[in-house]
Amino acid sequence: MKKNISPITIFLQGIVNQMKDRDEGKVADYIPELALADKSWLGIALATVDGKFYTVGDIDKEFTIQSISKAFTYGLALEENGIDKVTKKIQVEPSGDQFNAISLDQSGRPSNPMINAGAIASVSMINGLAEEVRAKIFNTFSIYAGRKLKIDEKVYQSESNTGHRNRAIGWMLRNFDIIENDPVGILENYFKQCSLLINCKDLALMGATLANNGVNPVTQERAINSDYIKYIFSVMTTCGMYDFSGNWLYHIGLPAKSGVGGGILAILPGELSVAIFSPPLDERGNSSKGIKVLKRISSYYNLNINNVTPLQTNSFIRASLDLENLTSSKQRSENEKEIIRKHGKKALVLIIQGSLGFSGYEMITRKVLESSENKSFVLLDINRVMNIDKKIYSLFWEFFQFLKIHNITLLFSSESKSIGLSNYFKEQYEGKFFQTLDNGLEYMENIFIDHFSSSRNISSKFELTDFQVINGLKGDDLQNLQNILQQTEYKKGDTIINIGDIADKIFFLAQGDVDVSITINGKNLKVSSIGAGNTFGEMGLTDQSLRTANITVSSEVARCFELKIKDLQSKKFLNLRLVLMNNIISELSKKLNIANKQVQKLL
Ligand code: GLN
Repeated sequence: MKKNISPITIFLQGIVNQMKDRDEGKVADYIPELALADKSWLGIALATVDGKFYTVGDIDKEFTIQSISKAFTYGLALEENGIDKVTKKIQVEPSGDQFNAISLDQSGRPSNPMINAGAIASVSMINGLAEEVRAKIFNTFSIYAGRKLKIDEKVYQSESNTGHRNRAIGWMLRNFDIIENDPVGILENYFKQCSLLINCKDLALMGATLANNGVNPVTQERAINSDYIKYIFSVMTTCGMYDFSGNWLYHIGLPAKSGVGGGILAILPGELSVAIFSPPLDERGNSSKGIKVLKRISSYYNLNINNVTPLQTNSFIRASLDLENLTSSKQRSENEKEIIRKHGKKALVLIIQGSLGFSGYEMITRKVLESSENKSFVLLDINRVMNIDKKIYSLFWEFFQFLKIHNITLLFSSESKSIGLSNYFKEQYEGKFFQTLDNGLEYMENIFIDHFSSSRNISSKFELTDFQVINGLKGDDLQNLQNILQQTEYKKGDTIINIGDIADKIFFLAQGDVDVSITINGKNLKVSSIGAGNTFGEMGLTDQSLRTANITVSSEVARCFELKIKDLQSKKFLNLRLVLMNNIISELSKKLNIANKQVQKLL
């Protein structure tokens, strides 16, 4: 087996081998320069939204983009004017006419932006002097293609010298005030945009940029505001293949655009694009082999925007839990644990996954309402959500306010910067957004504890004998320990332990709270916290390695009894050390048990 050759490439290569020498269609000759193309050129490029290419055949051969440009220029016109202004000038109905029809609909507008009349009108809607407009078009197309595109001078001259029919269309548009200035410069820009040179791979990347919601998947540069992409796809779907668009949608089912240079671009939004280059055209001006090739690819891989894949019920909710069965990693006193056990059912925790659009939103709201009885909090953990439709942000905001009326607080936890959510949510929800699930759990626990006990009162102090790690320590041993302990007081924000410090002390936290954090890419991430009555740093007793987490004070004050490990070396502390070791091991094994159980719940 030949390594590195994908089955996808093998399939595409098979198509090229079969189709290459078939004699069908006729190379365009109404623009004389186009007639020079070779009938047997055939290239296929498939590009994914993460920038992977599958290419076969005449992949590097350059050709002029021609009418495929219309989709991209239409996008630019939308971006500059908004849809209201643009639709006032250019309709969006399939015309059933030829691409170069000299026609307007009853309202005096071109039927759609994919025929020449509509495309010339799109160029006229890009603001600026002729040279600026040309530069805008070239720059934008170059962002889509990920490289600086150049014009084929000969094709441009050839088209400009013979483009009388397009000039007639331009002047007709002027007559009906669709174009409000002199159309001459606009037409030249139209001819120039049609003469931009691309190869099959460029075209696939231009399509993948649209499929990727406007961001070029290779350069990561945005080519168009994502709000307008659905309108481009819409006209590509209904009008992109001219008077073949109905059949195209029926058999192939992908938004597409063809050009008389022999290119066809077809897109599966959100997933991929396929670009074909084969110069011979059918009577409608679409690449005839291109249509056949795309038909085979779309049916072989079942690519069709009208495919139906019903959602799995509940696929958005990975786990539904509450504070009774999932607690934060904060080390707490028995008293506090008891409160959490008692009130834990009041906090619903939903672990959400997938890509959230309306259906995800519907599923979440449904689940929350079904389990909302006696709830004070709903925490949505969206760490596993890869993508959220923008509209859903505002729907969540609406739901937040809805729940508030019913005395339920909606909280979110998410670290995922990739979907750009946290910033948006942080502003809108203020304190209702947490970096990690654990932080969100702790927040709810603290509120229950504050509400149902006085044990979180800042003045609550623990005596040495309250600590679990010295269980069973009596008489002299206890006295000895007391003698070597040092009392230290810290203020809010003080760092007690730094990553990399030598682990030479054990801390008994008698008063206050501390945060445990680690540093990732220079940033501090809180991973858990510890409350009064617990010990930390006890690993130092087993091996005096280096600290692996930072400990900082989060309460106004914190008071610790500190035990230097080197003070324990003497023989008289042998029993003391044994007791400490025993208790530490039993604590650790308890913690490990809890952690294992929690991991299972979150799997
Ligand atoms: N430049 C060509 C024209 O206007 C584009 C037509 C096309 O590709 N269908 O005639």
